[in-house]
Amino acid sequence: MTFIPNTFGIRVKADRFLEYDSEEELVTLIRSGAVTSPFLHVGQGSNLLFTKDFPGTVLHSRIDDFEEVDRDGYSVTVRVGAGVVWDDFVEECVTRGWYGAENLSLIPGETGAAAVQNIGAYGTEVKDIIAAIAAIDVQTGESRVFSPVECRYGYRQSIFKQPSYKKFIVTSVYFRLSLTEQYALEYGPLKEIESPSLRKIRDAVISIRREKLPDPAETGSAGSFFMNPIITVSHLNDLQQTWPDIPHYPVPDAETVTYPTEGASASPADCVKVPAGWLIQQCGWRGKSQGRAGVWEKQALVLVNRGGASGEEILSLARSITGSVLEKFGIALQMEVNVF
Ligand SMILES: Cc1cc2nc3c(=O)[nH]c(=O)nc-3n(C[C@H](O)[C@H](O)[C@H](O)COP(=O)(O)OP(=O)(O)OC[C@H]3O[C@@H](n4cnc5c(N)ncnc54)[C@H](O)[C@@H]3O)c2cc1C
Repeated sequence: MTFIPNTFGIRVKADRFLEYDSEEELVTLIRSGAVTSPFLHVGQGSNLLFTKDFPGTVLHSRIDDFEEVDRDGYSVTVRVGAGVVWDDFVEECVTRGWYGAENLSLIPGETGAAAVQNIGAYGTEVKDIIAAIAAIDVQTGESRVFSPVECRYGYRQSIFKQPSYKKFIVTSVYFRLSLTEQYALEYGPLKEIESPSLRKIRDAVISIRREKLPDPAETGSAGSFFMNPIITVSHLNDLQQTWPDIPHYPVPDAETVTYPTEGASASPADCVKVPAGWLIQQCGWRGKSQGRAGVWEKQALVLVNRGGASGEEILSLARSITGSVLEKFGIALQMEVNVF
């Protein structure tokens, strides 16, 4: 029996593990009744934490085609299969001189999941280059194309993460990339690049990531375990009485945000984002272990499997951390990782 892929290195199985090579094959599987409920679609499992075997069907895409579908003087549009390894696509863009994906270099996972997760790093999010998403309804086998607006993108959020839209399996993602030189260099170390080029930015991002983050091939993790919380400015002002240096950033985009600790809605102008890693570090968790689960020495936002940890052990560490941060700062951290 096949184990479900996951970068935490947890050995879990599904009742059924099905892979398909094309949209037609996926539709055939659906219409033949092979996709029993509950179902879960996975990529490389780099944002998943399993606490037990999955009691249903796990699907995985091997659709790995790539084609240019449109081009004008300024941009190129490409269709990329959901099963293409995300970083292979970024490398392809950099090699071809297409601008827009380079800051997202070396993020683990596959292209379909990247669009579901709205992956982001170093000042950019994948939504900025998405032109459309092709998906299949797992209940009917029918296809549907979503525009970026329909995807309702937010910070690590998309419509595909909402319960009533989890039935859509992303089969291809359309990206629009710029043919004219443009970079996002607001993030500290990237600002210092002299005469920037796509290759220099990709190399810099890769080297920063290798320095700060565990290599999934060596240490089990799912990257950032928690989302950076959004708090109200008045909460920030209270915290600044005790921690005057608390780092905080403006809240971008969305028109209203749900303030997690109080469950209320507020406008972004009344809120700030606080780095979860800083909060966790202030609670003394960086480098610590609880059983076989631990907090990464170089980045407190990353929980790791120190060897042989179960999903429950990692979840238990996450709960201990959430409890410490709530007690010290009155902030309820929310998990970025999907737990099953
Ligand atoms: C070391 C490390 C560093 C990381 N750094 C970053 C980072 O900088 N920024 C960032 O945003 N993330 C980061 N991540 C998280 C992770 O890489 C991303 O969330 C990635 O997009 C997950 O891809 P995956 O293929 O592994 O998806 P999975 O983890 O397998 O799945 C993620 C979600 O997508 C759904 N899904 C997968 N494929 C499909 C599909 N075809 N159709 C519909 N739903 C689907 C799954 O059901 C699940 O809900 C990091 C992870 C690790 C281990």
